[in-house]
Amino acid sequence: MPDPASNSSPSSTPSTPAARPLSFIEQVIEADNLSGRWGVWTPADASPTAAPGPAGDAARARLGKPRVHTRFPPEPNGYLHIGHAKSICLNYGLASRYHGRFNLRFDDTNPAKEEQEYVDAIKRDVLWLGADFNTHTGASAGGIFWASDYFEQMYAWGEELIHKGLAYVCALSADEVSKRRGTPQIPATSPDRDRPKPDSLRLLREMRDGKHPNGSYTLRARIDLASPNFNLRDPVLYRILHEAHHNTGTKWCIYPMYDYAHGFEDSLEGITHSICTLEFENHRPLYDWFIDSVNHGRHAQDPDPSRRPIHHPQQIEFARGNLNYTVTSKRFLLRLVQDKHVLGWDDPRMPTIAGFRRRGYTAAAIREFWDQLGVTKTNGTVDFSRLENTIRGHLNRTTPRRMGVLRPLKVTIENYEDAKTEWMDLVNNPEDAAMGVRKVPFSRTLYIERDDFMEDPPKKFFRLAQGAEVRLRGAYWIRCERVIKDASGAITELRCSYDPTTRGGESPPPAADGTVRKVKATLHWVSAPHAMPAEVRLFDRLFNAEEPGKRTGEQLDDLNPSSLEIIPGAMLEPAFLDDLRSASQGGTGLQPVSGAASPPSGFTPITLAGATWPDAIGRYQLERLGYFCIDKDTDVAAGRLVLNRTVTLKDDWAKTKA
Ligand code: ATP
Ligand code: MG
Repeated sequence: MPDPASNSSPSSTPSTPAARPLSFIEQVIEADNLSGRWGVWTPADASPTAAPGPAGDAARARLGKPRVHTRFPPEPNGYLHIGHAKSICLNYGLASRYHGRFNLRFDDTNPAKEEQEYVDAIKRDVLWLGADFNTHTGASAGGIFWASDYFEQMYAWGEELIHKGLAYVCALSADEVSKRRGTPQIPATSPDRDRPKPDSLRLLREMRDGKHPNGSYTLRARIDLASPNFNLRDPVLYRILHEAHHNTGTKWCIYPMYDYAHGFEDSLEGITHSICTLEFENHRPLYDWFIDSVNHGRHAQDPDPSRRPIHHPQQIEFARGNLNYTVTSKRFLLRLVQDKHVLGWDDPRMPTIAGFRRRGYTAAAIREFWDQLGVTKTNGTVDFSRLENTIRGHLNRTTPRRMGVLRPLKVTIENYEDAKTEWMDLVNNPEDAAMGVRKVPFSRTLYIERDDFMEDPPKKFFRLAQGAEVRLRGAYWIRCERVIKDASGAITELRCSYDPTTRGGESPPPAADGTVRKVKATLHWVSAPHAMPAEVRLFDRLFNAEEPGKRTGEQLDDLNPSSLEIIPGAMLEPAFLDDLRSASQGGTGLQPVSGAASPPSGFTPITLAGATWPDAIGRYQLERLGYFCIDKDTDVAAGRLVLNRTVTLKDDWAKTKA
């Protein structure tokens, strides 16, 4: 399906540096570029300069420019959320703005919590956001990397630190370490701090060789037990974990701690600007210490390249992106999934990138949202409605209008010929004439929205009522003559008349006495015999509270119990069929399917012969109802169409909840 709202790369969005002042990170980069701090790209690291196509062109253009190399380093222990998107857009955006490179690096140092499903999901989400890390295709790509590929090197540095008297093996359990960590006034203690180097070396090798159980020993840095920065009080570098790893299998039973591994990963990949969130600010002295300690006693002229000083990236911290009514903690999101509070990681109510995608958000809108907010050094919370307004703006410009009725009420036009169908021209997008017009059938039997009729209307109700007249969008004016009810008194049908002089929804000519008839409402409608049945899913916010968990300390207490409403019997105009046909890659003509789905009586469900529904996102505006997209639960072969509401047309949330 053509998807005009989807991906162009972040570099090609109109948010160029000229549009706003430089961020504090851009100022750092520009100063580094001026001073030549990181050197320039050479044929050895600008690669693939020999490649054809955009990736090669970009590499050739990069040669000789100051080096800017960024990365996004997720731990594959869950799906990415909207906060991660901020980091991805920032890092990729900087690489592309400065002709640099961007790495995707899996920080896969904890085998207990990591899974292939998460690795696949992260790759998909990063690519969808437009941050192409693949060096064959991505103009700013640096490649994809695995922290676990560096285990051997990190271990060697661990031994080197022991040799230098800067690390030791400690027999304290995790509990004892935390009991002995001291206070700001009282230093931490460790009985093993002065263990002789040969002992530590032997024990570390035994740990690596699997001779000791989990928790029996750790390797610790020998820094400063009295440091006011607790991160420097002899942090643990390696722990024993008898656990298979998705990449290294059972080769290792000791694994590096996050802090130890992280700076080395950046160093090994030649990252220049190692951008992370504020909570790591007081870990920076530790990263610097690790690299300085490895470099201690090394010389750039050493004949053995592996003995020369290693690259020392600059860590830069920025405030994480937070949204109200939202929780962005992978651990909590995992709980929502595992305890089945949502349908899965990609539930359209989830704040995950996969959830937003399934809900119909565009990557361009997410990029624009974070780009406009910029990066700062102070934590704050952004209004969720701001994100919604950004997506509204995008969809308003890019989606075709369609008509659909969520809760159908049958209308019979008594003075309209029985077998007749007229095909009305309706504009696809008044914001964009290039999107053209489409044909919408009009016939004697229609559906309108049940809410658009009232038997005893209050004064300000301008929609349909007994004896009242309204315009049907792009069709005719109709007047309600009679209301038909069933035995229980429920309204089952409206009998109406239409005015043939109002074709296209135009005003009728003035009456003989000069009076001009007026209508105050324009309703959406669908021709019943042509309609396509659909299930429509409406979403409300997942949490009722601005700051979930603030009241009781338990975020689940603020879950909104009615965040999902399923409408099984909606009716859509048949233009959806054309879209399904073009989406179904080689699918041929329409065929009725017997026994599939269970639309309201009188309808033939429709399928596309031999077609499978691609994982693409058709996005639409349903007149008066909001923006919608086609959900992956759509099953063309079974004649089942499922729509998700991405967002309403207006920000009515604050009003209705007030
Ligand atoms: P968790 O949610 O499990 O505490 P995490 O979100 O930090 O962990 P990582 O996989 O370590 O998960 O995150 C990868 C990168 O994304 C890190 O560099 C982190 O700084 C960044 N990041 C995470 N959350 C946000 C956020 N809300 N805003 C901006 N960047 C973020
Ligand atoms: Mg983290």
